[in-house]
Amino acid sequence: MNQINYGLMQDSALTIPTLLEHAATNHPDTEVVARMLDGSLFRYNYKVLAERARKAANALSTLGVKYGDVVGTLAWNHHWHMECFYAIPGLGAVCHTINPRLFEEQIVYIINHAKNKILMLDQDFIELAERIVDQIPGIECFVILGAEGCVTAPTGLPNVLYYEDLIKNEPDTIQWPEFDERTASGLCYTSGTTGNPKGVLYSHRSTVLHSLAIAQPDNLSLSAHDCVMPVAPLYHAQSWGLPYGACMVGAKFILPGRQLDGPNLLELIRHEGVTTGCGVPTIWTMVLEHAENKNLDLGELQRLLIGGTALPTSMRDRFRAKGVSAVQIWGMTETSPMGTISRTNREVAQLDTEMLDRQLLKQGRLPYGVKMKIVLADGSRAKHDGETAGDIWVKGPWIANGYLHGDGGDMLDSEGYFPTGDVGHIDQYGFMKITDRSKDVIKSGGEWISSIDIEDIVTGHEAVSMAAVVAAYHNKWDERPILFITLKEGAVLDKTTMQDYLQDKIVKWWMPDDILIIDEMPMTATGKIRKLTLREQYWHHLMPE
Ligand code: ADP
Repeated sequence: MNQINYGLMQDSALTIPTLLEHAATNHPDTEVVARMLDGSLFRYNYKVLAERARKAANALSTLGVKYGDVVGTLAWNHHWHMECFYAIPGLGAVCHTINPRLFEEQIVYIINHAKNKILMLDQDFIELAERIVDQIPGIECFVILGAEGCVTAPTGLPNVLYYEDLIKNEPDTIQWPEFDERTASGLCYTSGTTGNPKGVLYSHRSTVLHSLAIAQPDNLSLSAHDCVMPVAPLYHAQSWGLPYGACMVGAKFILPGRQLDGPNLLELIRHEGVTTGCGVPTIWTMVLEHAENKNLDLGELQRLLIGGTALPTSMRDRFRAKGVSAVQIWGMTETSPMGTISRTNREVAQLDTEMLDRQLLKQGRLPYGVKMKIVLADGSRAKHDGETAGDIWVKGPWIANGYLHGDGGDMLDSEGYFPTGDVGHIDQYGFMKITDRSKDVIKSGGEWISSIDIEDIVTGHEAVSMAAVVAAYHNKWDERPILFITLKEGAVLDKTTMQDYLQDKIVKWWMPDDILIIDEMPMTATGKIRKLTLREQYWHHLMPE
């Protein structure tokens, strides 16, 4: 009778509108700045963002969008897209951010697979939509992000509406519907390098918990003092959760639009006072090159969260020379995306500089909320000795438990862990290091060669722009590494010079069997090197017979 069960604390669902309303109430004047398609800057604040998101939610509701519906977006990083990030899930519907860089047939596939009802799109993607319109019959209307008249040529799409006209006369207040915090909120497909893309479905709860986690000081360390600029697109793991994390803490927010080149990004960094940025290394290379060539400083920039592929040592050092700390983060669409982050703790901070530097180039430690295990071929768990590598499995409240509509089958093992497809090890300090993606692993004479480690060393050479190491078939060793390089503009390099450079930096049996200087790297839809293409094309390169 007197048994105590529940605490006497108020219960309120962890939903996305709570983030928006918090920012609007407590940080109303904090700015949100967007680079428009014509290159100009648009600015407003959280108060107006919230008003417009509420208007958009009212408009979508009038159009018939309701709990459980899926609304697709084909858009760059700007305020319209940010408003969709709140308006759509606020109704209990799902914001499906479509990656426009996927192949057209994949875009058709995911729109149909996710049963999108409405498509919100930038002018830039009208032609794309026109080409595929006959193959996406489920779309009831196309909402162009802008006002009527923003598109000069009349579009061949049926049922076209204009966002600004739609929201113009809607009230800027709303009673956000109440629903379970586990309701689906966002949908993002993996890039589908092998087979069809698979849908990762975030929930309100996972999004709010992930926002709380990324904001912590040992993680992204976001605060109301920050000016945050995600360069990762809103369609790539929801810009790494930053549109939600920024509202939670009330940070100034910069949406860099579609022009993600060195000059444009650096201008925003310097003039808007960006303190924190995030994105894949290829983007930051352009910013660095521009800053170095023009001898420009990086303004108030303090830290860059770099992930998606390994942070090159040379990039870390070049940013450091400009007073900016490049922090490595590891994750995937399926992990919302924060899985690990490479920041010190008391023990690691006391290591000597060389060891500390090496330590921080690992993919990093686990934040509260993520559990990880490294599993060996025989099913046993690897020791945390910083050497024994195996398959990486993860578990936690912002980690997928499967894909939309059951694609891929049951993903979790008997302990509830999700297979990441990455291979790595964990050391005595709890730092995980990726040695490879399992599909990129090179197994030579039964031993693993880490393509990531060789690439890191190669990109340290002054002539190298990008490097990729892939496996080629070998009749004695099964597989041997071959190295592909693209050069910086005007740079010259030949195979022998690279071999000499690598000589004392890697063990002898890691030396690539061939080195090819190519004009262009094949890239994926998320700005990474498409190693699979190289591997397929060059599989018989060493043994043509
Ligand atoms: P895609 O499949 O398009 O690459 P994701 O962004 O989900 O989409 O990719 C996740 C993968 O990217 C991870 O499984 C891992 O292989 C790689 N990755 C992410 N961050 C890092 C990092 N810091 N270092 C090395 N690899 C990384």
